[in-house]
Amino acid sequence: MKRRNFIKNTSLSTAGIISASLLSSCENEDKKTTAKQEEKETIKPIAVCTWNFENANSKAWEVLANDGNALDAVEQGAMAEEANIKNTTVGIGATPDRDGNVTLDACIMDKDSNCGAVVYLQNIVHPIAVARKVMEETPHIILAGKGAEQFAYEQGFKKTNLLTEKARKRWLEWKKTSKYETIINIENHDTIGMLAMDKHGDIAGACTTSGMGYKVGGRVGDSPIIGAGLYVDNEVGGATATGVGEEVIRTVGSFLIVELMRQGKSPQEACEEGVKRIMAKNKGRKDFQIGFLALNKKGETGGYCVHPGFTYRKATNVGHTNEQVDSFYKKKV
Ligand code: ASP
Repeated sequence: MKRRNFIKNTSLSTAGIISASLLSSCENEDKKTTAKQEEKETIKPIAVCTWNFENANSKAWEVLANDGNALDAVEQGAMAEEANIKNTTVGIGATPDRDGNVTLDACIMDKDSNCGAVVYLQNIVHPIAVARKVMEETPHIILAGKGAEQFAYEQGFKKTNLLTEKARKRWLEWKKTSKYETIINIENHDTIGMLAMDKHGDIAGACTTSGMGYKVGGRVGDSPIIGAGLYVDNEVGGATATGVGEEVIRTVGSFLIVELMRQGKSPQEACEEGVKRIMAKNKGRKDFQIGFLALNKKGETGGYCVHPGFTYRKATNVGHTNEQVDSFYKKKV
């Protein structure tokens, strides 16, 4: 209640004071409603993803532009790349482990903090869709290996050989010189992490990968781990990671980024801080890559990664062009 109103009302009867208080709280409610309306009017749906996965962003955007929700947008965006046979780091066509097995990891998280994940999943093109089924159809969050695969078949997913001829040939070449050693480097991995905000201002995220190329059999990275490879808090925003998963897991990277945004950092500042914290723990190492991508409730995005030799880079390949967002708004108005 404003002081002026309070002073005026103290001379009234108790009943008057109560009604004046009510009036004042109604005023506040009105203000809140107007603020909410303003917030709604400024909501600009957006989809962003790690790296140059144009297909994923386009698909996610198609969903959002047709009034779809953020969860469908990130799932379908991720699926577009999982189905892309040329993409060697997710879904079909992905790089196998050092024994020639393609094993996939994925997770998904919605606006209500529901989440689902699959780890070490084989023979299924769309781990992200299986992760969503885990979230929606089971009381669990993570299914692994054979159990996850069996569950996928029960949900109607088809068995598919994920090792393409090209990937098999590359693996055979790798075996000739590698001495069966898994070496963390920047060339044999890349994950697709997606974040989207829909027209209601709700945020969801998805993360899918084949993990590190020629990894030790059974290895699981950060990508399917909620809090590490992906985290969404619809009050604050979302974040996702790419790069050497072991480093992201031990810093609970995506959760950290969201918490930094909660404390007031912009998505860009939060991603920079997250990357720098990891690098500070790895002084002297020049052989790996880490990147974070973030989106907040205002629809602001940020991305930051580090490449070998500690070259920090602002990620530029995030989101959609302003033209697309603007034309969406013109269409809606
Ligand atoms: N983070 C993934 C993993 O460690 C790989 C990547 O994003 O490059 O499995």
